[in-house]
Order: sequence, then structure tokens, then C-alpha cells
Amino acid sequence: MASIGAVTRQIANLEISGSQPANPRPKLGHTKQPSQTNVAKLLTKYAAPNPHATKPPPRAPSPTKPLTTRSTKATETTAKKVAGSSKPDLDIGKSDGGMELENEKRGTTVNGEAAGDLALDSSMVVENPTPKWTLHSFEIGRPLGKGKFGRVYMVRTKPPHQPYTLALKTLYKSEIVQSRVEKQLRREIEIQQNLRHPNVLRLYGYFHDDKRIFLMLEFAGKGELYKQLSKHGQFSERRSSRYIDQMADALAYLHSKHVIHRDIKPENLLLGINGELKIADFGWSVHAPGNRRMTLCGTLDYLPPEMVESKEHSEKVDLWALGVLTYEFLVGNPPFEDRRSAQSTYRRIAKVDLHFPGTVSAEPRDLITKLLQYEPEKRLPLTTVLKHPWIVRYRPKDA
Ligand code: AMP
Repeated sequence: MASIGAVTRQIANLEISGSQPANPRPKLGHTKQPSQTNVAKLLTKYAAPNPHATKPPPRAPSPTKPLTTRSTKATETTAKKVAGSSKPDLDIGKSDGGMELENEKRGTTVNGEAAGDLALDSSMVVENPTPKWTLHSFEIGRPLGKGKFGRVYMVRTKPPHQPYTLALKTLYKSEIVQSRVEKQLRREIEIQQNLRHPNVLRLYGYFHDDKRIFLMLEFAGKGELYKQLSKHGQFSERRSSRYIDQMADALAYLHSKHVIHRDIKPENLLLGINGELKIADFGWSVHAPGNRRMTLCGTLDYLPPEMVESKEHSEKVDLWALGVLTYEFLVGNPPFEDRRSAQSTYRRIAKVDLHFPGTVSAEPRDLITKLLQYEPEKRLPLTTVLKHPWIVRYRPKDA
């Protein structure tokens, strides 16, 4: 377990700074929230216990080991991994030329140590190197969205690669250096590239040019979940149950790999082409540097009592967040939201001041109540969440 003090000291050493409003959720109902700075998540991830592990964790490169080392030849297998995972027949739309224009106007070349940190190329990693990718390997399609460090485009791989559709995320190196997140970005990429789960967004590879880093991401065809939640206000029990089933499965997988997500919220979830949920944010998407408390906390509304009270925390923080997420799906706003102040939200969390509107039926109430337990050890384990009657009720027979 990582103590808050230990994490704080490490963050201080990493010289993360910046400021953020005390309570980032100004409105009732769903409002997009900034992601927490990934440093805290990383430190937590690396400090996470692994109670589920029966065998050694997968060979993720060490966070201290250089990411770009001697190149080995790119393997066919890796190419097939990319090939096998996207639909080649999707219309990628028209480029707005932004990828090229942006490059003219935005960002500067990075020199010195940071340049080495950001020389990110998945064809150069020792284990499972990918083929050598460059911007010329892709036909650029429509912009999918804008992140803090650059845009995301729908792209298709060009010959000699087989045509596969992906999301290509651009990150400007100079802006990453300015935000002092270059080392964390490297680690996040290392973690993400080693994760394989249908409800965890895949990172297939990455490469860089003078000014930018490019991440080849699985294309999430149905976009952002938070937009759906904003549009509908809340989700039906069936839809909520299906999402929570997928979340619980993905979290069980992450925990088995020593990864605590710590920043679960609708903003960090995308939807695949068949509407399946994808945990998308592993820290590189939005780096919103916060003050010390925010750095540690992420979104206030999803914070568990142990973090509000600056106690030690474990992977059980994700179980709490799963309870908050279930509530927010069904009700339209998180359970402990208090618009008066961050302090009021903290107090409600610490008291587990939980109330349900009459619209929430007995089964989801039972699940949420069992997840939103003050004592981390008393929270319903993910294996039991997956067997809960409300989850099983809506699970397709063939799932
Ligand atoms: P981000 O920088 O991750 O916040 O991405 C900016 C926006 O691009 C998001 O809000 C999404 O709308 C879109 N986006 C990012 N990644 C993907 C993806 N893998 N598939 C589809 N859309 C994406």
C-alpha cells in the first residue's frame, strides 16, 4: 500500500505544480471533469498490492528502464495484433488538414534530457517491438476530438500495411515538457501498451517526430460515454448494469496486473463500435496539473473516504468509484456532490451520506450500498459484483 505521505513526497520530487479550482464540478448533473494528473496514478499503480495474483505479473518494462533501446526487428505477430483488431471498411472521413497545419503553428523542438525522454518509439522497445511507424504510414481522416496536448484523428494504415482503422493521438512534446509530465507519459505508455482486455482501450504502438508524439489507439467508434450521459441525463437500469458489468470485469483485470485506475469517472470512458465500454484514460489524455490535494485526488466526487481523510489506500478505491459510477449512471449525478464547497463534498463522503431517489430500485441500491462502504475491506469484491443479481439479470446469455 502507498501512504499518501509517501506519494506526496514522490510527487514533490517530480516537481509537479499548477493550480485547479477547489471543486471542479460546478453544476448538478453531468459536467466534464478534468483528469487528475497521472503522476499520482502512476505512483499508486506501482505501489499497488496484487492480492489476486497467482503468478508473476506480465513482463512490463521497468519504469526506470529506458523505453527506447536497441532495436530488434519488428515482429509479424505485432503487426497482426494491430491488423486483427480494427475494422478496415470504416469510412474515416476527410482530414481538415489540422494535423499538418497545427504542426506549423504549434509546439517547438525539444532538446536536452527531455528530448531523450520523449523519443518514444514502439519499434525500438526490447520486448515485442512493433513495426516501424511514421506519419506517412497513415491516411488521415476526420478529427475525433481535442485533448490538452493535441488532437485525435481517425486514420487508416496505408500499404504495405493492411488497411486498418485507428485513432491517432497527437501530443506536442514542448507542451508535455512545459507541464513537466514527460517521464510520467513514458510510464503510462509502458503500462497501457501491456494491457489486453476488451474493455480497456488498446494502445497498438507509438512513434514521434521533432515536435510530436503519436499514439496509435484503438478506435472507439461510439465516442465518449459522458456525452451520452449528458444527452440522456441518466441511463436505464439495463444499460447501467451492462456498463457496470464490463467495468467490473476490466477492473478485475487491471487489479490482477497491479494497476489501480484511481480515476474512474464517465469522462474517462469511451464506447466501442458495438457500444461496449472502454476504459480509455491511463493518464496521457488530459494532464490537468492540480495542487497537491487535487493531484492526489482526481475528481472530488469519486474520492473514497480513505483518501478524503488522507489515509493509506489500496485498489479498493476503485470499488468505491464503481459504486459512485453506478449511482451516477442511474441518477444522473454523483451521490456525494455538494455544490456549496469542496469541504461539504468531503464531509458527505466521509460520513457516507448516501441517499437514493425513489427511481432507483432495490437491486442496484443493494449493489451501490455494498460498494460504498466506509471500510475499504468491507466493499464488495469485484468477483462478487460480477455475480450480483442486478448484474446477472441483464447479462446476455452468450456473454
Ligand atoms: P483526449 O485527448 O483523450 O481527451 O481525446 C480528445 C477527444 O478525442 C476525446 O474527448 C474523444 O472525443 C476523442 N478520442 C480520443 N481517443 C479516441 C479514440 N480512441 N477513439 C475515438 N475517439 C477518441
